[in-house]
Amino acid sequence: MSKKNSEDPGSWFAEPPLRGFQQRFRTTHRLWHQRSAYQTVEIYETVPFGRILVLDGAVQTTQRDEFIYHEMLALVPLISHGCPASVAIVGGGDGGTLRRVLACPTVTRVVQVELDPVVTDVCRQYLPEIAAGSFSDPRVQLIFGDGAQFLQQAEEAFDVILVDSTDPVGPALVLFSEAFYRSASRALRPGGLIVTQSGSPFLMPEELRRTAANMRQAFPLVRTYLALVPSYPGVVWSFTLGSTGPDPLALSLEAVEERLAQWRLSPRYYTPAVHFAAFALPAFLSQGCRGDSRYDLLPADETLSEQQA
Ligand code: SAM
Repeated sequence: MSKKNSEDPGSWFAEPPLRGFQQRFRTTHRLWHQRSAYQTVEIYETVPFGRILVLDGAVQTTQRDEFIYHEMLALVPLISHGCPASVAIVGGGDGGTLRRVLACPTVTRVVQVELDPVVTDVCRQYLPEIAAGSFSDPRVQLIFGDGAQFLQQAEEAFDVILVDSTDPVGPALVLFSEAFYRSASRALRPGGLIVTQSGSPFLMPEELRRTAANMRQAFPLVRTYLALVPSYPGVVWSFTLGSTGPDPLALSLEAVEERLAQWRLSPRYYTPAVHFAAFALPAFLSQGCRGDSRYDLLPADETLSEQQA
């Protein structure tokens, strides 16, 4: 049952707590609420971030800061590849990643595999500026289905694969598995790269460790990098890159500047200096990402529940 435009001026939207930490947003309206075949889809009008898309209670993207996550998910691998022609996007129903991929002039084909058509429909209606018409670009093939199944059966190869999915629970869990990364490795051309959003290094360190470890089973080079996304819990957000060859850190600053200029891109968050700085992990995060849970900053939920017992 979908409910639209319920006015509720003095309320808050709160995400579910993680490791004893919870964030909330002052809201003026809930513009959409629907249980799709896969998840609960909501759109809120909020005071700090404008309109936000929420799936199963978790903030996905906001009008105010969507550019940060979408630029950092797309531009780091695209610039590192150098001349990507064919790109696959898994998830990404709001269209923000697609828009950044299409802005890259060497891209001639994008296949986007989004599980839930309700997400795309609702974002087209309430957050149209995020995709900004990208789904109608003639280079785009939009498929509604499971991204893991698509890559397993893919008969074409890609230069870059971007996993813009919800967090590793429910239908997205398969997108963080070793089997998925092996399929992705087979679906990439020589010199290809994959990047996935890999969650909060503070609130979801286990998921990040598992993602990087699974990716290392399928790719010779795996690197995690960070971005600062104010609307995400804990603000610091991670991305994990797998490469069949090119090392994003092997580029020179001048080469990154040159590609941005050649592609006539002027991003709002990504810069040549940010390209390199994003990979400079603080010591405790680097140890944590590589598997040592002693460096986790916040106590795990089960420790919390023991403390509360
Ligand atoms: N930008 C958001 C973020 O920061 O995490 C995510 C963007 S998008 C809204 C996440 C999408 O992943 C959702 O639309 C969801 O339907 C999709 N998704 C989840 N599991 C999937 C799967 N197995 N295959 C394809 N899409 C999937």
